[in-house]
Amino acid sequence: MFEQKEPESMKLKFIEDNLNFAKLKGSEFFEQSADEQKPNSLWICCSDSRVSPELITQSDIGEIFVLRNVANQFRLKDLGSLSALEYAVNKLNVRHIFVCGHYGCGGVNHIIDPVYYADSNKEYTPRTHIDKWLSNFIDDVYVPNRPEFSKIFDDILKDYKDSTVDERRDMYIQKKKDLLLELNVKKQVSNISKTDVVKNAWKDGIEIVIHGLMYDLKTGKLKDLDCDHDINYLKRPW
Ligand SMILES: [Zn+2]
Repeated sequence: MFEQKEPESMKLKFIEDNLNFAKLKGSEFFEQSADEQKPNSLWICCSDSRVSPELITQSDIGEIFVLRNVANQFRLKDLGSLSALEYAVNKLNVRHIFVCGHYGCGGVNHIIDPVYYADSNKEYTPRTHIDKWLSNFIDDVYVPNRPEFSKIFDDILKDYKDSTVDERRDMYIQKKKDLLLELNVKKQVSNISKTDVVKNAWKDGIEIVIHGLMYDLKTGKLKDLDCDHDINYLKRPW
């Protein structure tokens, strides 16, 4: 666990660690990488300190172009996200885009209460910045997938007949949270495929693939959500 330090010693620690890092990599590495970047992919990840795409994939500097925010969102009206995508695809020729969510995401846990409001038909008023950042989650992710949550509930009732009511309730809450997190990733994958950047690239025959992954904080492993969107997305009949 990282120890919180006084501001000055914190700064010194980072500067010292950075010097060690620069020495370890060697000056030749930086002279080459300073010329240009050729990342193999764009990753959209949560700001969570435990989900660093470079570290969890053992990638080096220059290999991954990264966009991070609370709960790995890609908003169609967010200029920060659109700019990162545009730069990655049009300037850096990135052909693989990964949306990487993670189980136990504090951002999505934060909106579990608003989700309760969505179930109870009470009026919900976003108050904090995170509330506002994730306020579209209810309409975009939760409401369209309500039948999925009922299915979880039915499966638990069927498969865990001998468990207590409390145990089944806890199981339901956990599975519902995990599913919400996965659906959140799938929604962002879908959002990216709707951007002018990706659609224009596909129209030009450029084979960009958008992938959805989940990172498990408890095992350090990635899970493929099998929700890739590729150039064939343009040919859908709907
Ligand atoms: Zn998170």
